[in-house]
Amino acid sequence: MAPGGSECKEVVESHSAIADTDIATTKSESNTTTMKSAVSFVGKHLIHSDNGVYELLKCPVCTNLMYPPIHQCPNGHTLCSNCKTRVHNCCPTCRYDLGNIRCLALEKVAESLEIPCKYQNLGCHDIFPYYSKLKHEQCCWFRPYNCPYVGSECSITGDIPTLVAHLTDDHKVDMHDGCTFNHRYVKSNPHEVENATWMLTLFNCFGRQFCLHFEAFQVGMAPVYMAFLCFMGDNNEAKKFSYSLEVGCNGRKLIWQGIPRSIRDSHRKVRDSQDGLIIQRNLALYFSGGDRQELKLRVTGRIWEEE
Ligand SMILES: [Zn+2]
Ligand SMILES: [Zn+2]
Ligand SMILES: [Zn+2]
Ligand SMILES: [Zn+2]
Repeated sequence: MAPGGSECKEVVESHSAIADTDIATTKSESNTTTMKSAVSFVGKHLIHSDNGVYELLKCPVCTNLMYPPIHQCPNGHTLCSNCKTRVHNCCPTCRYDLGNIRCLALEKVAESLEIPCKYQNLGCHDIFPYYSKLKHEQCCWFRPYNCPYVGSECSITGDIPTLVAHLTDDHKVDMHDGCTFNHRYVKSNPHEVENATWMLTLFNCFGRQFCLHFEAFQVGMAPVYMAFLCFMGDNNEAKKFSYSLEVGCNGRKLIWQGIPRSIRDSHRKVRDSQDGLIIQRNLALYFSGGDRQELKLRVTGRIWEEE
């Protein structure tokens, strides 16, 4: 099990060779022989998205900001390297063969710029050198969260209040107030693990929201049930909480104590790290009582705040 692992990943970007220097022209370019020092700037220039230079740096095909190598056709139409591959080397604007021409001037202009984080409208007021911006955005505090609902390929993203409203309104997820819970999971045909049973329940306590996942899947050949709690927020805040889950009957019980995982971690990542209460199917059926034909698990739990 590897809890807590959603630290920002180092993003390998094609422009990583271009360091973030204060004066673009002090940097010696090892891979260029032409157009060296084509543009010279002293200091950084802050630009916003309504600026013409900003527009120039947007790829005309995918509209994302372009990073080195920025390409251009013989007629000067620019395009990002992803799109260059996608258009099979044919300029989407003039249909000329793109060849392999780099637009160093634009790359250098970009290097001299500072731009706001793309989550500015979500509350981030940081400003970054052009080539550091992407790396920041991968771990920006204000970047939107993905919907934690796993039953469908949901593409909704947003801040926590938006997602809570989305989960209850659109996915009809139940929301409970309080830090203790007592849930019953019932499934009439527990032998069909393929149609994985899964459920999501929301808890509202300590002024924060948590979601409890419950599901069936296979570990190797063994069918298991798993329950785990996720925190609707970032990992560093998730660590301030703990939770316990308990399941059992006839004097036997399984207890799990853990730290909720941030919903930044994908559901699959948490599941694969087995960071939760895992119940073998045989034991789950035993805990269900009766004739072992029906799954009837009572899961009790508690969430608390660490000192
Ligand atoms: Zn593009
Ligand atoms: Zn062209
Ligand atoms: Zn940011
Ligand atoms: Zn959703």
